[in-house]
Amino acid sequence: MTARVLVVDDVPANVKLLEARLSAEYFDVATAMSGVEALAICEKAECDIVLLDVMMPDMDGFEVCRRLKKNPATHHIPVVMVTALDHPSDRVRGLEAGADDFLTKPVSDVALIARVRSLARLKMMTDELRMRAVTSKEIGIQNPENEAIADVGRGGRVLIVDDRASSSERVSAMLATEHTVDVVSNPNDALFRAAEGNYDLVIVSLALENFDGMRLCSQVRSLERTRNVPILAIADPDDNVRMVRGLEIGVNDYVMRPIDKNEMLARARTQIRKKRYTERLRDNVQMSIEMAITDPLTGLYNRRYMESHLSALVEQAAGRGKPLTALVLDIDYFKSVNDTHGHDAGDDVLREFAVRVRKSIRGIDLACRFGGEEFVIIMPETDMAVATIVAERLRRRIASERFPIQQSSKAIEVTISIGIATLDAADDSAANILKRADQALYRAKRDGRNRVVADAA
Ligand code: GH3
Ligand code: MG
Ligand code: MG
Repeated sequence: MTARVLVVDDVPANVKLLEARLSAEYFDVATAMSGVEALAICEKAECDIVLLDVMMPDMDGFEVCRRLKKNPATHHIPVVMVTALDHPSDRVRGLEAGADDFLTKPVSDVALIARVRSLARLKMMTDELRMRAVTSKEIGIQNPENEAIADVGRGGRVLIVDDRASSSERVSAMLATEHTVDVVSNPNDALFRAAEGNYDLVIVSLALENFDGMRLCSQVRSLERTRNVPILAIADPDDNVRMVRGLEIGVNDYVMRPIDKNEMLARARTQIRKKRYTERLRDNVQMSIEMAITDPLTGLYNRRYMESHLSALVEQAAGRGKPLTALVLDIDYFKSVNDTHGHDAGDDVLREFAVRVRKSIRGIDLACRFGGEEFVIIMPETDMAVATIVAERLRRRIASERFPIQQSSKAIEVTISIGIATLDAADDSAANILKRADQALYRAKRDGRNRVVADAA
């Protein structure tokens, strides 16, 4: 997929120039002649990267950038300031407005394309996560966008890789004002340290004396444990060609020597903020996957998950000639728990019940809340005899120890009835097994409850 780059400049000739260069590299290009126009295009999610002129009448580039970075709909779009101003203080001003990088006019083709490619790659990754992330206040999932906007990028864990003490001390002193900083002076240890340390940022000097800094960057990028840690390279002004290679292999950003303290701080903050944002998105996606398959009250699998898996488990067992057994469990007289002690007490019982179920089964067993106070446990590679022992042990574990309710101020007796059925013939089905287990459960209820009944088939 080609990235769509928005070029913003009040001078038509500048727009044309950048548009031509980007088009030649097969980027899709949109253009805007003012800040207001640019904001509208970004808000409609019609671009992946913004190249933003700093000096424009009405609203200047800094202000456009600030607004983009404050808006949950646009804060994740990378912004590159294109400017004739090239003092560290100008760069810092832009970085503080939230810019991701700078290109100095006249813009070199190589730098432009390398930058845009690298930012486009990261943007695609973020977009994928954003698409899958969900926001839900009811279930306590924070909005990752709002958290990202509020994050000022301080308090990160930073690893500096530099074998020249004078240089690492200087950089470390700059960053230590707002981050926790570790220095590794032997580059051979750097990869290990980076993998073990759970860092938010790794800073690599490319001027290592006895080691190829670029090789280290590429190793950090490809190792599973460090794949998502941003890399900030420290380069010398004549390192331009290497920097372009660096961006290609996954270096996120770089600062040039002599290092300006404020620029270093601003770039570190930007990288740390981005890392935390993608981390939040990733956590969010992980949580939404878990929520889709678990029951929120008990943390056991939900019915949908169990049903979607049971057929596969049954087929697998039948195909391999292995046993498989299903337990259907139902709490006895549960309605009267609610009626006597209240609905919250009923919920306490369900939660505690789930805890005891988990203690009674193996990792490969599948325990799910089927609905209300009815549960199903699927036990692969388990025959009726063993399943009966497990069921009996669970029944006792429930009946023999009272259930605490109302903040443990009370404890009540709870019993369960269990019906068991096992995979019968090669053409047996998930639905049939559950049906037979349910019939066995019905007999357990009819025969007086607090008992285990095996299907006779
Ligand atoms: P039996 O011994 O025949 O199973 O009787 P029972 O009272 O357990 O069965 P019944 O099906 O009559 O009642 C089940 C009750 O479970 C009714 C329903 O309000 C309650 N219930 C279902 N889901 C929940 C829940 O999430 N929390 C609470 N507290 N109660 C629930
Ligand atoms: Mg019941
Ligand atoms: Mg019931």
